[in-house]
Amino acid sequence: MRSEKVVHLSSIAGPQVTSMAMCEEHGPYEATSHQVLSHTFRSPCPGCKAAQVAKNQAEDIKRQRVDLAYKLGDSLIPKRFKDKTFDSYAANCEGQQKAKARCERYAAEFEANLASGRCLILVGNPGTGKTHLGVSIAQAVMANSAHTAAYRTLGGILQAIRATFDGSSGQTEGSILDALIRPSLLVLDEVGASKEAPSDFELSRLFSIINGRYERMLPTIVISNLGAKELPAAMGERSADRLREGGGIVLPFDWSSHRGREGM
Ligand SMILES: [Zn+2]
Repeated sequence: MRSEKVVHLSSIAGPQVTSMAMCEEHGPYEATSHQVLSHTFRSPCPGCKAAQVAKNQAEDIKRQRVDLAYKLGDSLIPKRFKDKTFDSYAANCEGQQKAKARCERYAAEFEANLASGRCLILVGNPGTGKTHLGVSIAQAVMANSAHTAAYRTLGGILQAIRATFDGSSGQTEGSILDALIRPSLLVLDEVGASKEAPSDFELSRLFSIINGRYERMLPTIVISNLGAKELPAAMGERSADRLREGGGIVLPFDWSSHRGREGM
């Protein structure tokens, strides 16, 4: 049994006093205050309190949205990418700062980009943080809206499609392509990564994805280590044309690699 002396606040607190207080933002309000020992406790401005509650709720909703998106579709964005956000992107040089700012803008203007089906193409040297920024856009879209976003590598998609050919994977090529065409935003990484010339198989599937999204006016972010001039040949001119329509933006990452320093 606990037998401890309980000191009630009321026994050491002074009487409650009502007085007018001033909030710089919301103006005068009626505050209640009481003295406990040498400290005065005063009730906060109701306007500030309500604003803080609303802010906490908005942040909770954002967090829940991202958590839910991860829970619902493990395959939409790999879990290991959950920490890749604009906040965690280290912009060490001017090129990186500009690229980050452009990607943040694309995410902030996502409603307009979605309405026009405007694509974004991140091209250039490996290790410059293209994947990080592409994933950051997808995360921002999920956090700030009810839109869906997915991230896949082209190699991973082709492998999943090949695995359907013997009928044992439990998926069909149609279901795989459909899952890539449905999300509001698709981030398609490692395009043009194969050393050899792309096969007809590769080119036709890539076109199915890009054209399928184009027909629904849904934006795609394409990421490639190739340069802007080499990419059209590597991905097929038809696919490249689709990306350009609707005012596609090409963002070159042409500074040298920072992979070592960033610890990516
Ligand atoms: Zn206030």
